[in-house]
Amino acid sequence: MPDLSDLPVQLSDIQAAARVIAGAADATPMVPSEYMGQRTGHPFWMKLEITQPTGAFKLRGATNAIRALGDDVAGVVCCSTGNHGRAVAYAAREAGLRAVICMSELVPDAKVARIRATGAEVVIEGQSQDEAQRAADRLVEAEGLVDIPPFDHPDVIAGQGTVGLEMLTERPELDTLIIPLSGGGLAAGVAVAAKALAPDIRLIGVTMDQGAAMDASIRAGQPVEVEEVASLADSLGGGIGLSNRYTFPICRALLDEVVLVTEEEILTGMQTLYYEDALVAEGACAVAHAALLSGKITARGPTATIITGRNLDMRVFNGLMAGDHVTLGDRIVKGQTYGA
Ligand SMILES: *Cc1c(COP(=O)(O)O)cnc(C)c1O
Repeated sequence: MPDLSDLPVQLSDIQAAARVIAGAADATPMVPSEYMGQRTGHPFWMKLEITQPTGAFKLRGATNAIRALGDDVAGVVCCSTGNHGRAVAYAAREAGLRAVICMSELVPDAKVARIRATGAEVVIEGQSQDEAQRAADRLVEAEGLVDIPPFDHPDVIAGQGTVGLEMLTERPELDTLIIPLSGGGLAAGVAVAAKALAPDIRLIGVTMDQGAAMDASIRAGQPVEVEEVASLADSLGGGIGLSNRYTFPICRALLDEVVLVTEEEILTGMQTLYYEDALVAEGACAVAHAALLSGKITARGPTATIITGRNLDMRVFNGLMAGDHVTLGDRIVKGQTYGA
């Protein structure tokens, strides 16, 4: 058991975050999966962050970080086009703050429209996330906006950690918690809460087997860059930042294991969530199912995961559920007919 008192985020920070976000981004249901319970031989629980107003847990961290700002800020900025961007736009609107979301020219119109509909300004610049980040950096300089990072920030981590606080308060008997892993804001926050409340709990981060930046960094002993590859779990893509300060040391200290799953396993997981438990959820949510059903993780007692988000293109999702092939970047994931 590592010494939790050395870590940059503490249980008390997460408890404080829970008070800050109460009524705005908390208290999502945790429901059992009869099917996964039978398949794994142990009770299986799913924390439904897809029921958040923005469809993903990122509203917790964004709300906590934005409510921590004083009244004298000019507004907030970020450069995520996914669940973090939506969360920042929504939490800023709730706080009566100006929000600017920076994105590259490659972002689909539907995503731009969704963020604009939340009331945020959109700045489109360049051909990559890096160029969009430079636009955000300029707005910080020129207009005094505050950048809300997607994971590597203590207030964001503490906000995401409230997921773990709620899960362990409701089910202190959990033996294993399986956490979808990307930049590690969710995993770091949940890990601090879970290990503080249940020191013997097993914590497993799961992500896709290509472009897994946190896994590569933990193995290298320092943050490293990996090539980004298109995935069904698109919310799990992206690096952890070479100057990562918070999520890397916490994930390295507290995750018992990181498990990698293939695109085919993720597709099976998504179909299982849909056909067995009637949940419409992103590929990122299906990695625990993917790891358990493929035998990469063996349940040994009550197990839970977090159904993290539902920011989906429903036409693509319908095709996936029906067994259509999917084109991801320059490769094709073969369609699978569920149960065939
Ligand atoms: C951001 C995100 C994750 C991963 O969270 P990190 O804090 O980056 O590890 C998982 N699932 C969904 C749906 C997300 O939006």
